[in-house]
Amino acid sequence: MDQEAKKKSLRMITYGLYILAVKDGEELAAGTVNWLSQASFTPPLIMVGVKKDSHLHTLIEKTQKFAISVLAQDQKNIASDFFRPTQLDGGQLNGHPFEFSPDYQYPLLTECPAWFEAKVTATVPGGDHTVYVAEVTDAGVRQADAIPLMMRDTGWFYGG
Ligand code: FAD
Repeated sequence: MDQEAKKKSLRMITYGLYILAVKDGEELAAGTVNWLSQASFTPPLIMVGVKKDSHLHTLIEKTQKFAISVLAQDQKNIASDFFRPTQLDGGQLNGHPFEFSPDYQYPLLTECPAWFEAKVTATVPGGDHTVYVAEVTDAGVRQADAIPLMMRDTGWFYGG
């Protein structure tokens, strides 16, 4: 295979950007992910690729659940704040206000226009990332007319 063509063609896949959060007791992880997609209408399934050596991965393996905050077009700064280790300080998560999701009590960023909670239904070990297929069990919208942040517009790449 032509490695350059593989990289370029895979980088043409379009993505949004999201903050994935998991909590297990006092232990908490939140990080930016882009490898996320809907995968079924009924039941409403999504799939997400999570780096195996991350804290997010350790906690999803334990809890089999996660919460997603959807980033808006003008929230690139929030995405970059969640590339680094998760810090809970002054009631904020990496400098951003949050509340706990209604069912799982996982952190949701209150600045974000939409969110959902999802429960893992299948795990695909894959390669350096595990693919979690998960059923959306609750969702909320704070700003219905928000335009989601798209990877293409950030100039960043995670893929290829
Ligand atoms: P980690 O770096 O894993 O951990 C943060 C801290 O937690 C570490 O300092 C460490 O002290 C502690 N820690 C780590 N592991 C453990 C453990 N097992 N137990 C206890 N403590 C631990 N990642 C993806 O998985 N999927 C994506 O789709 C994705 N997309 C990205 C897109 C872009 C543009 C970029 C730049 C990054 C992307 N990432 C993605 C990477 C992801 O954003 C970072 O790895 C993020 O830091 C993960 O959060 P984390 O809390 O798991 O961080």
